[in-house]
Amino acid sequence: MNIYADNAATTRMSEKALNAMLPYFRDVYGNPSSLHSIGQRANEALWAARETVARCINADPKEITFTSGGSEADNQAIVTAAKLGAKKGKKHIISTAFEHHAVLHTLNKLQKEGYEITLLDVHENGLVSPEQVAEAIRDDTCLVTVMFANNEIGTVQPIKEIGEVCRGKKVLFHTDAVQAAGHLFIDVKDMNVDMLSISAHKFHGPKGVGALFCRKGIILSSIIEGGAQERGKRAGTENIPGIVGMATALEDACERLDENAAKMKKTRDILINGLSQIPHSVLNGDREKRLPGNVNFCFEGIEGESILLLLDDKGISASSGSACTSGSLEPSHVLLAIGRPHEIAHGSLRLSIDETVSEEEAKYIIDSVKETVELLRGMSPVWRDLMSGKQKFITK
Ligand SMILES: *Cc1c(COP(=O)(O)O)cnc(C)c1O
Repeated sequence: MNIYADNAATTRMSEKALNAMLPYFRDVYGNPSSLHSIGQRANEALWAARETVARCINADPKEITFTSGGSEADNQAIVTAAKLGAKKGKKHIISTAFEHHAVLHTLNKLQKEGYEITLLDVHENGLVSPEQVAEAIRDDTCLVTVMFANNEIGTVQPIKEIGEVCRGKKVLFHTDAVQAAGHLFIDVKDMNVDMLSISAHKFHGPKGVGALFCRKGIILSSIIEGGAQERGKRAGTENIPGIVGMATALEDACERLDENAAKMKKTRDILINGLSQIPHSVLNGDREKRLPGNVNFCFEGIEGESILLLLDDKGISASSGSACTSGSLEPSHVLLAIGRPHEIAHGSLRLSIDETVSEEEAKYIIDSVKETVELLRGMSPVWRDLMSGKQKFITK
């Protein structure tokens, strides 16, 4: 059996997106800035893709800037708001403790440059409330940035309500929607969002391409200097095949959103119910307000890394949280943010499925995880101490 359950890290390219891209490598390889016809055909594809991406999130095509991915879009959104704020003497930014590092590290950098950063606590269920945001906003706040859906525990934030709070207080609102795009319904107008980041490889598009939505009237600061591409907001020859692939994948995902979400939720719930039966395990993140494809558990008494290697031997590709922290010995900042103690934050397992994972495969995953957890606990000195009462259980 071969089951890919690491779609939050990246996804397989859809055939549709791949096929849409190929002509832009082979035939229509012109530079969209060139005046000849092969360049102009590339330029037409660029604008058609912009219209498609805009339509999928209810934006205007001119509000879409293509980037090299989610990280760049996050960086650019935050830097833009910070610069606009500084002009008005506003140098306070609000975010949350469980953002992606593309956001957190950009905020760290700004803090060193004299900005004040408030990171909101995340409730144990993995949610941030609009009231918390309202309370944290000050006269000198220039930006609120809260992720749409968390990449580790999958929790979906009340974006529309947070947007309403920000709109009411005239503070810019950015959301990292990299995990949401193509999986959850997005309407930037209805949701009161000023800036929003997406990345193609999280919805069966290619890697190395993303987009930043930026509401009309907000002037983006470029973070890459050079030519006048993207109306002067993002220099560099446009990644036409990637952009075309992203638009194709996003349109496809949005058209099949409800159908795919229903399938995934069913499989996700089978996984959650099955894995909950493992003693001393705990589901991370709210049971309902989570991405249709996200399952994240802590198993007391084991190490995250070893479970992944054993599952890999059984043909299951999973993760212990963020791809960026795996390999490091630090427990996930997301699990610490929702109050999981170090001892159990180490033993986490994230399964992020797509619509192709069947119920039968879900059952195989459950059996494999059960076996693996038992095996590892059998060898774990921590588990021995827990069982003998030398150490107290944290989980039930
Ligand atoms: C993957 C991810 C990013 C980074 O996107 P890249 O395209 O890989 O740069 C940012 N935020 C979240 C929530 C993500 O899941």
